[in-house]
Amino acid sequence: MKIGIDAGGTLIKVVLLSDLSRTFKKYPAAEIDQVINMLNSKHAADDVYLTGGKAEYIQEKLNFDTTASIEFDATFRGLTQLLKEADMDLDRYVYLNVGTGTSFHQATQNSQKRVGGSGVGGGTMIGLSYLLTGIGDFDTIIERAKDGIRDNVDLKVHHIYNGRPSPIPGDLTASNFGHILNAQKTASTEDQLIAVIGLVAETVTAMAINLADAFETKDMVFIGSTLLDNKVMTDIIYRYSELKNARAFVVPNGEYSGALGAIS
Ligand code: ATP
Ligand code: MG
Repeated sequence: MKIGIDAGGTLIKVVLLSDLSRTFKKYPAAEIDQVINMLNSKHAADDVYLTGGKAEYIQEKLNFDTTASIEFDATFRGLTQLLKEADMDLDRYVYLNVGTGTSFHQATQNSQKRVGGSGVGGGTMIGLSYLLTGIGDFDTIIERAKDGIRDNVDLKVHHIYNGRPSPIPGDLTASNFGHILNAQKTASTEDQLIAVIGLVAETVTAMAINLADAFETKDMVFIGSTLLDNKVMTDIIYRYSELKNARAFVVPNGEYSGALGAIS
């Protein structure tokens, strides 16, 4: 069996590959030592491939040899494979890995260039949610955010133009969190959670749009566990992209790109 592992800042993504099957698993980064123990006890005879920020730590503690790859190369290889499997035939595109933080890349069919990064990512989503509401659990955040109303917290362009014609679509956010002091001055937990997701979603999408423009493409691919079952976030990404005449793609199993691509 071949085992690809992408050990990121928050989650360890694992792909188990045999002739007959492919299985995806993830573990909290806090359980890294348990994952190492499991590998040492059960998988010493398998081929293990590592990538991600915590790959070196794992490699040092394993009592058998492994192969390591640079995170950005591994992710691109895995993403290329997942795009092909999903029949997403993109020639020239940008992709954003919305992990704990976010990294941005410009890509063609055979190569990628990392063009930057931002500290705004999934870690921001859960960290800021926790500070505002006391809820730091990812699944609870994405579930409860569904019942939130963004207009109670965020200022839209149409709020400023107040019914008069605006030069940009009225539905665009003019200021994340900028409406709270003009609106009813209180917001429910759900309103706060959806506003946090909106802030992260719109920040990464705005960066993607600019990056795509500079790279002369309309195609933007989003991966990373932050998007996992996160319909509130992906809806915002799709809607914002559409308003800007760009195309957003969320790749199935995209968060496993690094783990899959580590297997060379
Ligand atoms: P990085 O690449 O920045 O080192 P990472 O690879 O660990 O980090 P991802 O796994 O792509 O990053 O995404 C991590 C984010 O996914 C978290 O910040 C959180 O928003 C979200 N997430 C999804 N599921 C979970 C979960 N079960 N536990 C914690 N966070 C989760
Ligand atoms: Mg990662």
